Amino acid sequence: MTQQTLTPAQEAFGVLADHCILCTGCKVDLDRLDEPPECPEAEALYRAWFILWRKEIRR
Ligand SMILES: [Zn+2]
Repeated sequence: MTQQTLTPAQEAFGVLADHCILCTGCKVDLDRLDEPPECPEAEALYRAWFILWRKEIRR
């Protein structure tokens, strides 16, 4: 089995997605990530992902 290497942004997105699936306080629709979630923890994860993602698309 080959382990796919994820970029930091992809990893951060996975963490955010996992949180939103497991956190009962989150009602985040991952198809609409343009609207930041209201859960503080999810918002922090979202911002972390967004910063990494912006860095990656500039390459
Ligand atoms: Zn949450």
